[in-house]
Amino acid sequence: MAFLDLSNLQKSFGQNHVVKDFSIAVEQGEFVSLLGPSGCGKTTVLRMVGGFETPSAGSITIDGRDVTGLRPNQRAIGMVFQSYALFPNLTVGQNVAFGLKVAGVGRAERDARVAEMLDLIGLADLGARYPFQLSGGQQQRVALARALAPRPKVLLLDEPLSALDAKIRVSLRTEIRAIQKRLGITTIFVTHDQEEALSMSDRVVVMSGGRADQIGTPFEIYNAPATRFVAGFVGTLNTFDAVVTDPATGSVTLNGLPLALDRPLDAAKGATIGVALRPEAARLGRDPSREVVLPATITAVQFMGAVVRITAEVAGRRFDLDTFNRVDTPPPAVGGEAEISVGARDFILL
Ligand code: ADP
Ligand code: MG
Repeated sequence: MAFLDLSNLQKSFGQNHVVKDFSIAVEQGEFVSLLGPSGCGKTTVLRMVGGFETPSAGSITIDGRDVTGLRPNQRAIGMVFQSYALFPNLTVGQNVAFGLKVAGVGRAERDARVAEMLDLIGLADLGARYPFQLSGGQQQRVALARALAPRPKVLLLDEPLSALDAKIRVSLRTEIRAIQKRLGITTIFVTHDQEEALSMSDRVVVMSGGRADQIGTPFEIYNAPATRFVAGFVGTLNTFDAVVTDPATGSVTLNGLPLALDRPLDAAKGATIGVALRPEAARLGRDPSREVVLPATITAVQFMGAVVRITAEVAGRRFDLDTFNRVDTPPPAVGGEAEISVGARDFILL
């Protein structure tokens, strides 16, 4: 059995069936994100793991112990919320010591643990400050230290970065991940931000409507989405309806334009299938190393600095294409005709 095992969890609030059937086996030391749109049940799953909600069905095991019926403080979990939720009338040090005091840890060990935790989050000198004297990012690090101080077996993070400024948010991603790895603590991280989930996690669970649509590594989720929902929710995707002309060779037409997908298709001749391309999979211009050349009309150019996003019309559909900025190559003109080169294997089947 895995270190943290969620087995067929369900949760209803009255008639509202919020978590339908949720299972995952999380290994010790693993960092798993729950990613999905607002309202899909992420927080509810996390709160069930923490013991703040009782499942309507299913069970939760932590380190071989069934904790389904236990209270939060009996589960050896630590939790961090979006809103920091620090005690405003306690100093940073007292906040971090809080869980230890409740657990009856003696003064000397408490002080040592607080010092260790403040050191871990890089705020060793700020123990005597009050929360209002700290920035949002510092407050969230204190919340993390408070959650970690009692040495929980599982760390639960509910959108801990969502309330922070963009720059801090990105730097805290790295910092949280580094601390998590250093402690080797099994972690569930809830977010609606796909970049956060992809960049921080060992595995990502993409959720919709109270279920896990797909569980996989960031690479798998991005490059081999299991459902149309996952494909559409994670990253930008150009989707086309393709008509199969020869399933054996993967030949299709896109709006009358013939192309080969270079793999056998599990569809009948004449059937319509969904195919898709990521914006970074295509090249502007004719690239001899790529099998497919699509005629395009440039409809918009967004210069973002490192990346230039070019929007075009391809086979009657909007097509977003990302190119890297180059000092000596100005972006193409809007309204111009262009060719877009794509490798046959770059198409994702939906
Ligand atoms: P997420 O975190 O993915 O945004 P939540 O788990 O918070 O989603 O909520 C999922 C659904 O459950 C929402 O429709 C929400 O209104 C409902 N819900 C969550 N908590 C409660 C509650 N305590 N009572 C009633 N409905 C709830
Ligand atoms: Mg939530």
